[in-house]
This record gives sequence, structure tokens and C-alpha cells, in this order.
Amino acid sequence: MKQWLDSVTEAMPELVIRTEEPMSKHTTFRIGGAAEVFAAPDARELPQLLAMAKGADVPVTVIGNGSNLLVGDRGIAGLVIEIGERMSEVRIEGTILVAGAGALLSKAAQTAAAAGLGDLEFAAGIPGSVGGAVVMNAGAYGGEMKDVLQSVKVLTEEGELLILTTEELELGYRHSCVPERKYIVVEATMELSAKPEEEIRAYMAELRAKRVEKQPLEYPSAGSTFKRPEGYFAGKLIMDAGLRGYTVGGAQVSEKHCGFVINKGDATAADVRQLMQDVHDRVKEQFDVELEPEVKMIGSF
Ligand SMILES: Cc1cc2nc3c(=O)[nH]c(=O)nc-3n(C[C@H](O)[C@H](O)[C@H](O)COP(=O)(O)OP(=O)(O)OC[C@H]3O[C@@H](n4cnc5c(N)ncnc54)[C@H](O)[C@@H]3O)c2cc1C
Repeated sequence: MKQWLDSVTEAMPELVIRTEEPMSKHTTFRIGGAAEVFAAPDARELPQLLAMAKGADVPVTVIGNGSNLLVGDRGIAGLVIEIGERMSEVRIEGTILVAGAGALLSKAAQTAAAAGLGDLEFAAGIPGSVGGAVVMNAGAYGGEMKDVLQSVKVLTEEGELLILTTEELELGYRHSCVPERKYIVVEATMELSAKPEEEIRAYMAELRAKRVEKQPLEYPSAGSTFKRPEGYFAGKLIMDAGLRGYTVGGAQVSEKHCGFVINKGDATAADVRQLMQDVHDRVKEQFDVELEPEVKMIGSF
């Protein structure tokens, strides 16, 4: 690995790259062991970095803002690539917004609002990157990425750039074809509609107030822990199973919103995983409903 690292830094002297980087610094859960190697490339460095990893058989894990991740306590072997700040340009062309995959959704929504473009209000309070939001088809309050995306630029494993239409992304409930095809999202183009800025800002403020009222934003978490099972709400099922406040180590089913698992301060990934298993089992036992994780578990537990 040392030799490989030397060749990478020699080829890309400006690349942000570190070893044994704690993933707790890169996840909203504030949990996770170290990435063996962690890099935050820009759009120019990314294909070269991928090719060098492939050439040396170094396994690659891609992350965005880490807001839907549970990283194992024993960390991630190989290379973690963060698509973030260095790929976060947002620009407006008429009613079209083009965002680098590393841009935060909040930044994209604020840029749209300032340009008098609506439809992205639903995304303003989702703490993910544009790339992560495409992968998850993130959504809230009746809107989802599927409604606003026009096309997405991805990098294939072979280093080829493709432009995919919304149909080709196979977007469904918290699903896209990106992970199974091993694509990396590099840019998203959204088609928005003109609206008075005050109207957009008022709606964003209304949604923000709803989040503050309903969600435990004062604690680290990864948002909704489980997907919404058809015909039910995960949070309601968990509450009805008597699990409000249920605790394993430093992990707890939020008392404010049972759909969220929160980190009370010193939770390990093992605590969260055990708690999720217990919640799954209790809900299955009591209501015969199978809860499926929305949070993605990566690394070694
Ligand atoms: C307080 C809170 C509230 C939330 N509210 C909502 C909500 O209302 N609606 C909602 O849908 N979600 C919500 N979430 C979850 C989360 O913000 C979304 O799933 C978000 O889209 C994840 O984006 P991310 O950049 O953080 O992705 P990450 O968590 O870093 O990664 C998620 C997945 O996407 C992959 N990925 C990330 N970036 C790329 C890329 N550029 N190319 C290829 N693969 C990539 C990763 O490999 C991983 O599989 C919430 C989370 C929190 C903490």
C-alpha cells in the first residue's frame, strides 16, 4: 500500500489523501472506524485515481456527505473516495441547474432559490450531497430527486463518462441503479421552474420548521433508519412495539421520532447494528412486518 500511495501522490500532488482517517469525521452518525486510505479528488483527479486503484487491485468505496451511512467499527479496507467540496460547483443556465455531485443539496437548493427557481425546496433540509441524493433518490414532503432530475453524468468502472437520463437511472423508492452498476455520480442536471424567490424561501422555512419540530436534529444520526414498509410507517410501528427510547450502549431509538436511531454520544457501530436487529425482530414478531434498513452499512463490523 505504501508504494501505491507514493505513486498516487507523485502523479497527483494536489490530491487530498490521508491514511487511517477516522470515518466518524465523515458521517453524520459520528460513528465508524478508520479508512485505510481516504481521498477527496476533484473531477480531474477522480478518473486517474480510479484507474490507479484498479491497476493495483485496491478496493474502492465511494461516499458523499456520509448522511446515510453506518460504517463498521473496524473501518474500511482499501481506498475511500469522498465526492465532496472539491466537486461541488453549482451553476444555473435559464431554468436548468447543474451541480457537481459533491455539492450539498442545501447549497443546490439555496442557489436555485436565489435564482428564482423552485421545485427543489423539498431537498433543502436533506443533509446529503447531490451524488448521494441521486443514488438514494432522496425525497421528502412529497418531492423526490426523480421529479427534478433531467440527466446525470456518471463515471463507469472502466473510466468512461456516461450521461444517463432519469429513466436510465431506474429511480424508485430510495433506489437507483447506480450502486449495482458501480457507477460514480459526478454531476447532475436538474430542470426547475421559475417561481418568486420569497415564495420559495417561505416554503423552505416551513419545511425546515417541520423538521426541527419532528426530528431529533440535536443528536447525530443517519436520518430514517428503516425504509417505509408498504402500507405502514416505520416510526409508528417501532413506537407501537414499545421501543421508544430503547437503548443499546450509546445508540437509542429517538424519543422524539422513533424512525430515527440516534447516537447519544459514544455509540459504536456494533451498538447501532444490534439495536437495529432488535427493532427488526420485535416489529416482525408483533406486527409480522419486515423492516428493511434504509441506512447503508459499509466496512468491517
Ligand atoms: C437528519 C437527517 C435527515 C434526513 N432526511 C432525509 C429525507 O428527508 N429524505 C431522504 O431521502 N433522506 C434523508 N436523510 C438521509 C440522507 O441525507 C440521504 O439518503 C442522502 O441522499 C444521502 O446523501 P450522502 O451524500 O450523505 O450519501 P452517503 O450517505 O455518503 O452515501 C449514500 C450511498 O450513496 C453512495 N454514494 C454517495 N455519493 C455517491 C456518488 N457521487 N457516486 C456514487 N455513489 C455515491 C454511497 O456509496 C452510499 O451507498 C436524512 C439524513 C439525516 C442525517
